[in-house]
Amino acid sequence: MKITAIHAHYVRIPFDMGAPLQDMGGIRFPTMDHLLVEVTTDTGLTGWGEGFGHTIIPATKTALETYVGPWFIGKDPTDITGLHREAAQAFHIFGRNGPVVYAHSAIDIALWDIAAKRAGLPLYQLLGGARRPDVQAYSSLLRYGKPETVARICAERVRDGFRHIKLHEHDTAAVFAAREGAGPATALMNDVNCPWSVAEAIERERAWRPAELYWLEEPVWPPEDHNGLARVRRQATTRIAAGENAAGLHDFHDLFEKGAIDIAQPSVTKIGGITEMLKIAALAEAHSVRFIPHCAYFGPGNLASIHVVAAQGTDTLLENIHARLEASPYGNAMQAHNGRVAVPQAPGLGVEPDMAIVAKYREGTVTTIK
Ligand SMILES: [Mg+2]
Repeated sequence: MKITAIHAHYVRIPFDMGAPLQDMGGIRFPTMDHLLVEVTTDTGLTGWGEGFGHTIIPATKTALETYVGPWFIGKDPTDITGLHREAAQAFHIFGRNGPVVYAHSAIDIALWDIAAKRAGLPLYQLLGGARRPDVQAYSSLLRYGKPETVARICAERVRDGFRHIKLHEHDTAAVFAAREGAGPATALMNDVNCPWSVAEAIERERAWRPAELYWLEEPVWPPEDHNGLARVRRQATTRIAAGENAAGLHDFHDLFEKGAIDIAQPSVTKIGGITEMLKIAALAEAHSVRFIPHCAYFGPGNLASIHVVAAQGTDTLLENIHARLEASPYGNAMQAHNGRVAVPQAPGLGVEPDMAIVAKYREGTVTTIK
């Protein structure tokens, strides 16, 4: 079996999140953007993957088209673990985190899609999961800033059936308003995206204790300051979560060794795909750290995350971003019902994209690497 071509689709879809989005640095945008990557083989089987993401997609797409994609042409797509290691070694001088790894992640996800289609199994069953209809999800809200808006959206999400809600708020009043809106029975988390020094993070964690956050995510700048994060965790009563900006298995090893986190959050389109995710899940278990992946996606990265979570047993959660897309190539496949997301049961990732919707929202034309 050989990889014969790789196609890249840059899709940009307008969305609504119930109120205006406050600036979140790299993700201030009018559309949810996806980089969909299709890997075709000489057997006619094809697989889909997704590379990170948002405003950096043009760079990821260029890395895919000029360097990462051509490396995979002619290779055997069934040699997933071998290719993963060989490719990572071949690409390492161009960065162990960033667009090259994001492009590699997309292809790795597509190879797992192909493997599960060959096996005739939904991916989560190929990964060892017991048959299950759905997984527990948490509603991940983008940043609203205004306390009254945060309270209203939290109350709506609880009414929709979510028992876990994550904020992206920096403002103390917004955090306490969220607790008011969500009520005492909801697990409430807050992701602050690496804003503070260690001392500031310790101060904030202490100030926010009355809100009873289930976890505080990425409180320290920069994300590679694992010692600093461990200092925050030693002083904290709130669980500490991080990992969406980590560079692979060894970065997680260092986080675990330093006692920096309670919750590990590798991100499938950034970390090196499903192959790297599975290694990190096992290592997290060995360190008694919970594995709850980052999943800010609406394409194959989201489907891959559903399958990885479904294969883990029960002690995890699926991140479900609260944003309604104007249209989705995947229909309702990623929508939660009563706080749960259905696990696709068809072979592979289990849902194929609607190419009419891909074509309608595609930026430019499809590019093909041969
Ligand atoms: Mg995060």
